[in-house]
Amino acid sequence: MQSDCFVVEGKLALPYQYFAGKTGSRFLIALRDEKKILGAKCPTCNKVFVPPRATCEKCFSKLTDSRVELKPTGTVTNFTVIRYEEPYQPIKPPYILAQIRLDGADTPLTHIVRGIPISQMKTGLKVKAVFAKKTTSTIMDIDHFQPDEKFKMEIGYTFDELEIGMSASFTKTISETDVYLFAGISGDFNPMHLNEEYAKKTPFGTRIAHGALPQCLIAPVLGMKLPGLGTVALEINTRFKAPTYFGDTITATGEIIEKIEKKKWVRMALSWTNQKGERVAEGSALVIPPAPLPE
Ligand SMILES: [Zn+2]
Repeated sequence: MQSDCFVVEGKLALPYQYFAGKTGSRFLIALRDEKKILGAKCPTCNKVFVPPRATCEKCFSKLTDSRVELKPTGTVTNFTVIRYEEPYQPIKPPYILAQIRLDGADTPLTHIVRGIPISQMKTGLKVKAVFAKKTTSTIMDIDHFQPDEKFKMEIGYTFDELEIGMSASFTKTISETDVYLFAGISGDFNPMHLNEEYAKKTPFGTRIAHGALPQCLIAPVLGMKLPGLGTVALEINTRFKAPTYFGDTITATGEIIEKIEKKKWVRMALSWTNQKGERVAEGSALVIPPAPLPE
């Protein structure tokens, strides 16, 4: 009796290392240790390559000893919008991936551009590198490029500029002072927030913050980041899942999950996590994004 082969599909994760090369290593080390973007200048034809390379592609001169430092500013020559999600991507789509010709360079560097609505992105835009706070010894030591022009975001994202999947966060450490001020603001002097001896006898074992204190960290997200200035919140729902202790660092995140065309409103998924990655709360919001500014 004969039967077909039964095929089981699988994937292998393959950790690997590679040598960035002499020229590439020098580029990455300068980026990591000096926050400098290096290029190589051809001594024969004067072409400036960024990132540097070992040989001139135009006249084949050796460039291994050339080291020129570029300014962190440049011009977008080309760009695309990444909308699909893959595990290797540095940030969550949608985002803008651009080719940026640094001032003084002849070749473009490919990187992320943030801080401009996708609909307003254009070639010719002047951008500036924003270096990462934490080094990864990769090209991501430049976190992204942002507009260097007098690009003023006087309002947040309008309905048409918002896309499903866009997200923004705000992070803050909740201190004892925050809790006492919040008690004064709200009038909630519940001893479980203010009296350590009392709180010891509760299931939490110590004082905890008012639930509405971490919750209100979503306000700077909605009102200042996404959709941003001019946003009107219609509804905010919250389910509390874990307590916030004094000293906890809470990240509030909002993500666009639905565009309600008829009303020009958007629905957002909300989440609050602490420094351990535990979900403190989750919920949703219904907001009116800012109306476009008159021309
Ligand atoms: Zn050359």
